[in-house]
Amino acid sequence: MSATLRPREAIAALASWPDEIRLRRKDTEPWHFVNIEITRSGLDMTRDCSHNNCVVAKITDFRKLWRDGNASRRARREALLFLVHFVGDLHEPLHCADNHDRGGNNLHVAFFGEVMTLHKVWDADLLNRLGAEDALFRTLSRAITPDKRTEWSAGTIEDWAGESFRAAKDVVYGDLPDTPHGGIPQLGEAYERAADPVVEQQIEKAGVRLAAILNETP
Ligand SMILES: [Zn+2]
Repeated sequence: MSATLRPREAIAALASWPDEIRLRRKDTEPWHFVNIEITRSGLDMTRDCSHNNCVVAKITDFRKLWRDGNASRRARREALLFLVHFVGDLHEPLHCADNHDRGGNNLHVAFFGEVMTLHKVWDADLLNRLGAEDALFRTLSRAITPDKRTEWSAGTIEDWAGESFRAAKDVVYGDLPDTPHGGIPQLGEAYERAADPVVEQQIEKAGVRLAAILNETP
Protein backbone atom coordinates (compact mmCIF):
# COMPACT_ATOMS: atom_id res chain seq x y z
CA MET A 1 0.00 0.00 0.00
CA SER A 2 2.83 2.39 0.85
CA ALA A 3 3.94 2.46 -2.78
CA THR A 4 0.68 4.09 -3.84
CA LEU A 5 0.71 6.80 -1.18
CA ARG A 6 3.01 9.79 -1.13
CA PRO A 7 5.25 10.32 1.90
CA ARG A 8 3.34 11.46 4.98
CA GLU A 9 -0.03 10.85 3.35
CA ALA A 10 -2.51 9.17 5.67
CA ILE A 11 -5.37 7.16 4.26
CA ALA A 12 -7.96 8.69 6.55
CA ALA A 13 -7.21 12.19 5.32
CA LEU A 14 -7.80 11.10 1.71
CA ALA A 15 -11.07 9.28 2.35
CA SER A 16 -13.18 12.28 1.39
CA TRP A 17 -11.49 12.79 -1.99
CA PRO A 18 -14.27 10.97 -3.96
CA ASP A 19 -16.81 13.40 -2.46
CA GLU A 20 -14.66 16.35 -3.51
CA ILE A 21 -14.51 15.25 -7.16
CA ARG A 22 -18.22 14.34 -7.40
CA LEU A 23 -19.15 17.62 -9.03
CA ARG A 24 -16.22 17.71 -11.43
CA ARG A 25 -16.59 14.07 -12.43
CA LYS A 26 -20.33 13.64 -12.79
CA ASP A 27 -19.83 10.06 -14.01
CA THR A 28 -18.72 9.10 -10.49
CA GLU A 29 -21.91 10.37 -8.83
CA PRO A 30 -23.88 7.06 -8.89
CA TRP A 31 -20.84 5.15 -7.60
CA HIS A 32 -21.53 6.14 -3.97
CA PHE A 33 -24.77 4.20 -3.44
CA VAL A 34 -27.17 1.53 -4.62
CA ASN A 35 -30.87 2.31 -4.44
CA ILE A 36 -32.75 -0.73 -3.12
CA GLU A 37 -36.41 0.07 -2.63
CA ILE A 38 -37.30 -0.46 1.00
CA THR A 39 -40.29 -2.67 0.12
CA ARG A 40 -38.00 -5.22 -1.60
CA SER A 41 -36.56 -8.27 0.13
CA GLY A 42 -32.97 -7.49 -0.82
CA LEU A 43 -30.47 -6.54 -3.51
CA ASP A 44 -31.08 -7.57 -7.12
CA MET A 45 -28.09 -6.45 -9.19
CA THR A 46 -29.97 -6.51 -12.50
CA ARG A 47 -32.77 -4.38 -11.09
CA ASP A 48 -30.84 -2.13 -8.68
CA CYS A 49 -27.44 -1.75 -10.35
CA SER A 50 -28.13 -1.30 -14.04
CA HIS A 51 -25.05 -0.83 -16.24
CA ASN A 52 -22.95 -1.83 -13.22
CA ASN A 53 -23.07 1.77 -12.17
CA CYS A 54 -23.49 1.54 -8.39
CA VAL A 55 -21.33 1.24 -5.29
CA VAL A 56 -21.42 -2.58 -5.30
CA ALA A 57 -20.13 -2.85 -8.88
CA LYS A 58 -17.53 -0.11 -8.33
CA ILE A 59 -16.06 -1.78 -5.25
CA THR A 60 -15.77 -4.96 -7.35
CA ASP A 61 -14.06 -3.04 -10.18
CA PHE A 62 -11.61 -1.17 -7.97
CA ARG A 63 -10.84 -4.31 -5.96
CA LYS A 64 -9.73 -5.99 -9.21
CA LEU A 65 -7.68 -2.95 -10.17
CA TRP A 66 -6.08 -2.84 -6.70
CA ARG A 67 -5.00 -6.50 -7.09
CA ASP A 68 -3.71 -5.98 -10.64
CA GLY A 69 0.07 -5.93 -10.58
CA ASN A 70 0.15 -4.67 -14.17
CA ALA A 71 -1.99 -1.61 -13.49
CA SER A 72 -0.18 1.72 -13.31
CA ARG A 73 0.75 3.19 -9.97
CA ARG A 74 -1.59 6.09 -10.65
CA ALA A 75 -4.53 3.76 -11.40
CA ARG A 76 -3.89 1.72 -8.28
CA ARG A 77 -3.67 4.86 -6.19
CA GLU A 78 -7.05 5.99 -7.47
CA ALA A 79 -8.47 2.51 -6.82
CA LEU A 80 -7.20 2.72 -3.24
CA LEU A 81 -8.84 6.10 -2.63
CA PHE A 82 -12.14 4.94 -4.11
CA LEU A 83 -12.08 1.69 -2.10
CA VAL A 84 -11.47 3.45 1.22
CA HIS A 85 -14.42 5.75 0.56
CA PHE A 86 -16.86 3.34 -1.08
CA VAL A 87 -16.46 0.53 1.47
CA GLY A 88 -17.45 3.16 4.05
CA ASP A 89 -20.40 4.32 1.95
CA LEU A 90 -21.58 0.73 1.44
CA HIS A 91 -21.85 0.29 5.21
CA GLU A 92 -23.99 3.41 5.67
CA PRO A 93 -27.47 1.85 5.52
CA LEU A 94 -28.95 4.80 3.62
CA HIS A 95 -26.44 4.30 0.82
CA CYS A 96 -28.10 0.92 0.19
CA ALA A 97 -31.78 1.77 0.64
CA ASP A 98 -34.39 4.12 -0.71
CA ASN A 99 -37.95 4.96 0.23
CA HIS A 100 -38.78 7.31 -2.66
CA ASP A 101 -36.75 9.90 -0.74
CA ARG A 102 -33.29 9.71 -2.39
CA GLY A 103 -31.92 7.53 0.41
CA GLY A 104 -33.32 9.76 3.12
CA ASN A 105 -32.05 12.98 1.49
CA ASN A 106 -35.59 14.24 0.93
CA LEU A 107 -36.97 13.21 4.31
CA HIS A 108 -36.73 15.84 7.02
CA VAL A 109 -36.66 14.82 10.67
CA ALA A 110 -35.97 16.61 13.94
CA PHE A 111 -32.93 14.97 15.56
CA PHE A 112 -32.76 16.08 19.20
CA GLY A 113 -34.77 19.11 18.14
CA GLU A 114 -32.65 20.07 15.14
CA VAL A 115 -34.25 19.74 11.71
CA MET A 116 -32.10 17.91 9.17
CA THR A 117 -32.43 15.14 6.61
CA LEU A 118 -32.58 11.53 7.74
CA HIS A 119 -29.57 10.94 5.48
CA LYS A 120 -27.52 13.47 7.47
CA VAL A 121 -28.55 11.83 10.77
CA TRP A 122 -26.99 8.60 9.53
CA ASP A 123 -24.07 10.12 7.60
CA ALA A 124 -22.86 12.36 10.39
CA ASP A 125 -24.91 13.24 13.45
CA LEU A 126 -25.32 9.83 15.11
CA LEU A 127 -21.60 9.31 14.62
CA ASN A 128 -20.66 12.74 15.97
CA ARG A 129 -22.65 12.10 19.13
CA LEU A 130 -20.62 8.93 19.77
CA GLY A 131 -17.60 11.10 20.56
CA ALA A 132 -14.23 11.86 19.00
CA GLU A 133 -13.61 9.65 15.98
CA ASP A 134 -10.06 8.59 16.86
CA ALA A 135 -11.02 7.33 20.30
CA LEU A 136 -14.21 5.74 19.02
CA PHE A 137 -12.45 3.85 16.23
CA ARG A 138 -9.79 2.63 18.67
CA THR A 139 -12.44 1.34 21.08
CA LEU A 140 -14.43 -0.33 18.31
CA SER A 141 -11.43 -1.99 16.71
CA ARG A 142 -10.31 -3.38 20.08
CA ALA A 143 -13.75 -4.96 20.49
CA ILE A 144 -13.47 -7.00 17.28
CA THR A 145 -12.77 -10.65 18.10
CA PRO A 146 -10.83 -12.93 15.71
CA ASP A 147 -14.06 -14.88 15.12
CA LYS A 148 -15.91 -11.73 14.10
CA ARG A 149 -13.05 -10.76 11.83
CA THR A 150 -13.24 -14.10 10.04
CA GLU A 151 -17.02 -14.04 9.85
CA TRP A 152 -17.20 -10.47 8.52
CA SER A 153 -14.41 -10.90 5.96
CA ALA A 154 -16.37 -13.73 4.36
CA GLY A 155 -19.24 -13.21 1.98
CA THR A 156 -19.54 -11.11 -1.14
CA ILE A 157 -19.86 -7.38 -1.61
CA GLU A 158 -23.48 -8.05 -2.57
CA ASP A 159 -23.99 -9.78 0.80
CA TRP A 160 -22.52 -6.75 2.56
CA ALA A 161 -24.88 -4.41 0.71
CA GLY A 162 -27.74 -6.70 1.71
CA GLU A 163 -26.80 -6.31 5.39
CA SER A 164 -26.82 -2.53 5.06
CA PHE A 165 -30.19 -2.67 3.35
CA ARG A 166 -31.55 -4.88 6.16
CA ALA A 167 -30.37 -2.37 8.76
CA ALA A 168 -32.10 0.41 6.85
CA LYS A 169 -35.31 -1.53 6.63
CA ASP A 170 -35.35 -2.68 10.27
CA VAL A 171 -33.89 0.32 12.08
CA VAL A 172 -33.30 3.43 9.95
CA TYR A 173 -36.86 3.42 8.57
CA GLY A 174 -38.32 0.70 10.79
CA ASP A 175 -37.78 2.64 14.01
CA LEU A 176 -39.06 5.98 12.75
CA PRO A 177 -41.89 7.04 15.04
CA ASP A 178 -45.40 7.22 13.61
CA THR A 179 -45.92 10.77 12.49
CA PRO A 180 -49.10 12.43 11.27
CA HIS A 181 -48.99 12.96 7.52
CA GLY A 182 -46.92 16.02 6.69
CA GLY A 183 -45.42 16.11 10.19
CA ILE A 184 -41.73 15.92 10.95
CA PRO A 185 -40.65 12.75 12.79
CA GLN A 186 -39.10 13.61 16.16
CA LEU A 187 -36.01 11.50 16.81
CA GLY A 188 -34.35 11.45 20.20
CA GLU A 189 -33.02 9.03 22.77
CA ALA A 190 -35.19 6.02 21.86
CA TYR A 191 -34.16 6.23 18.21
CA GLU A 192 -30.52 6.75 19.13
CA ARG A 193 -30.56 3.71 21.43
CA ALA A 194 -31.69 1.53 18.53
CA ALA A 195 -29.37 3.20 16.02
CA ASP A 196 -26.05 3.28 17.91
CA PRO A 197 -25.37 -0.48 17.88
CA VAL A 198 -26.03 -0.45 14.13
CA VAL A 199 -23.70 2.50 13.54
CA GLU A 200 -20.98 0.89 15.65
CA GLN A 201 -21.24 -2.53 14.06
CA GLN A 202 -21.31 -1.10 10.55
CA ILE A 203 -18.10 0.84 11.30
CA GLU A 204 -16.48 -2.32 12.64
CA LYS A 205 -17.53 -4.35 9.62
CA ALA A 206 -16.36 -1.66 7.20
CA GLY A 207 -12.94 -1.58 8.85
CA VAL A 208 -12.52 -5.35 8.82
CA ARG A 209 -13.67 -5.67 5.21
CA LEU A 210 -11.61 -2.77 3.91
CA ALA A 211 -8.52 -4.29 5.53
CA ALA A 212 -9.33 -7.66 3.95
CA ILE A 213 -9.63 -6.09 0.51
CA LEU A 214 -6.48 -3.98 0.82
CA ASN A 215 -4.48 -6.98 2.03
CA GLU A 216 -5.13 -8.65 -1.32
CA THR A 217 -2.00 -7.34 -2.99
CA PRO A 218 -0.79 -8.34 -6.46
ZN1 LIG B 1 -19.66 8.85 -0.78
